[in-house]
Order: sequence, then structure tokens, then C-alpha cells
Amino acid sequence: MQDCIFCKIIEGSIPSKKVLENDDIIAFHDINPAAPVHVLVVPKVHIDSLEALNSRNIDVVVKVHQAILEVAKIMNINSKGYRVIVNCGKDGGQTVPHLHYHVLGGTAMNEKLL
Ligand code: 5GP
Ligand code: ZN
Repeated sequence: MQDCIFCKIIEGSIPSKKVLENDDIIAFHDINPAAPVHVLVVPKVHIDSLEALNSRNIDVVVKVHQAILEVAKIMNINSKGYRVIVNCGKDGGQTVPHLHYHVLGGTAMNEKLL
């Protein structure tokens, strides 16, 4: 999709520090990390947000979750634990309109969500 930062990262016209890539997803380090480990797991198909999931595209969610498990292992945060966040829409704080999952770890996080 034109003018989508994450589609440009997927096609390679914007560089990223890749952690994992397969046919369905790409995972790369967030440019502005909020924790010692902050990786974004992004489906390669352009989906605007969680709210744009439907019966035709929802299979990708399984692929994303499989990738999250792999990323946690690669980043060596799988045994200590980590947090997965999806921001959805304006009130959810979503700034990039291409569905993505934040994987945060490498430190003990506050149990409060907000
Ligand atoms: P959101 O606020 O939409 O949930 O998260 C978007 C995330 O994408 C932010 O954490 C932001 O730092 C990250 N981000 C925005 N532009 C880029 C970029 O060009 N490269 C990388 N690696 N991360 C980006
Ligand atoms: Zn996109």
C-alpha cells in the first residue's frame, strides 16, 4: 500500500533491523524502543488495524502469534516473560495504520496496564 511506512519496510524501500522474516510476517526492532527489547511483529499483508480483521484475513493472526513465540526465543525473553501490545485506532494510541504487535521485554514491567 502506498504511503504506508510498514509496507515500505516490508518491500525493503525503508531499512529496518530485522529479527525474523517468513512468507507471512516480518519482525524488526522498533525505531524508538520503549523497553530493552522492543520488536514489532507485522503481517506482510496490509491490514489497517485490529478492527479491519475479518473472516477473509484473520488467518494471519495465527501466523503472527507463531512469530511472536519465535521472536521471544530469538531475543531470549521467552523464559522470563514479556508483554504483547496491539494499539487500535485513535484512542488506542495507534500511530502507524498497518496492524502490528509490540513485543516488549528485557525488564520487569509494572503490572498496571496504564
Ligand atoms: P503504534 O503507536 O502505531 O502502536 O506503534 C508504531 C510503532 O512504530 C512506534 O513504536 C514507532 O516507534 C514505530 N515506528 C514508526 N516508524 C518506524 C520506522 O520507520 N521504523 C521502525 N523500526 N519503527 C518505526
Ligand atoms: Zn501497510
